[in-house]
Amino acid sequence: MNIQEQFAQFVLSTYARTPLVITRGKGSRVWDAEGRCYLDFVQGIATNTIGHCHPRWVQAVSAQAATLVHTCNLYYTANQGMLAQRLVEKAGPGKIFFCNSGAEANEGLIKLARLHGQKLAGGSEGQRHKVVCAQNAFHGRTFGGMSATPQEKVQHGFRPMLDGFAFGEFNKLSSFEKLVDDSTAAVLIEPIQGESGITPATAEFMQGLRKLCTERGVLLLADEIQCGYGRTGRFFACEGYGVKPDAIAMAKGIAGGFPMGAFWVAEPYADLFQPGSHGTTFGGTPLACAAALAVLDVMEEERLVENAAKMGSVLSDGLKDLVAKYPDKLDGVRGIGLHLALVSSKYNLKLIDALRANGLIAVPGGNGAVRLLPALNVSEDEVHQALDIIGKTLSSAKLA
Ligand SMILES: *Cc1c(COP(=O)(O)O)cnc(C)c1O
Repeated sequence: MNIQEQFAQFVLSTYARTPLVITRGKGSRVWDAEGRCYLDFVQGIATNTIGHCHPRWVQAVSAQAATLVHTCNLYYTANQGMLAQRLVEKAGPGKIFFCNSGAEANEGLIKLARLHGQKLAGGSEGQRHKVVCAQNAFHGRTFGGMSATPQEKVQHGFRPMLDGFAFGEFNKLSSFEKLVDDSTAAVLIEPIQGESGITPATAEFMQGLRKLCTERGVLLLADEIQCGYGRTGRFFACEGYGVKPDAIAMAKGIAGGFPMGAFWVAEPYADLFQPGSHGTTFGGTPLACAAALAVLDVMEEERLVENAAKMGSVLSDGLKDLVAKYPDKLDGVRGIGLHLALVSSKYNLKLIDALRANGLIAVPGGNGAVRLLPALNVSEDEVHQALDIIGKTLSSAKLA
């Protein structure tokens, strides 16, 4: 039985998988079972922040694995305290909760919204619990995440959703102004919508949401699971908008490919959580935190937030040239920093297959996106190689 047959027989078929078996990775490259090499501009969907198997990361994870892996959160471990402190130094005064995935981080934000709403309602449970999210958002596959994700392909088959979610039009402040009322506890927003194809919020929208939330006493919750962690050329995407949210969900990039999620809660709200009000067995293990600390060390030493901004503009300039050259095949470029999509509303899926045949892997996204999400330590050479492959593919491939 080959690997694909084994999956067909034994793994739940919840994914439309690409016919590619990846066997190893190094930096911005991966190899398949036949030994073919690919430039990896997927990186586990914006997850391998410092590329595959960075020596510092491998060293830190190996050493920690040989020392202490898991204790559960009944005890103190040094790595979790250290990582929390370093994240608070980036996000601002407040506190961190560690979990294991993005969906779990968003569950935490939704629970924070409930606690906040209850406090606003003088302790009465359930009166003020509405969370206003955006159309085309993606917040994960748990019931909280799905309920915040108004997409048929996510919710179909699983209704009823959780009560108390409403959806405004992304980048249309007036639509949020109508929905934020006396029953609202929070607004939950991706500063750049990722799964739906890398659509950045406008500055007016993000700043307007901040003002609206402050005026009406509701929390502004940022889902930075995909767009955060240095990818936009700022540590948090919200920084680029000059906006300070009340809480931030992180996951994908935080531990460089090791499963981890986290959320930061700003100081005045951090104490809404009390002993017993939230928990997880695995969150913030010494091993996961060692991986995350290695990511932060490498990001700082190799100045990767800056590199994301620089390489992002090289990549995006190159893509814009290709859009000008192939107007019949391409519609544009969206995104900020290294959170980018080449847009081809007619051919994005075919283009991704053709790119793979030529040695570059990319991720599809909504609204015609070919998402390009390289590691933040991608080199200028590698960006040019990717652009060459995209150019060559567009000049030769019959996409229609
Ligand atoms: C990936 C993603 C999630 C879900 O994260 P998981 O780790 O898959 O649970 C939530 N929100 C956004 C914006 C994401 O990109």
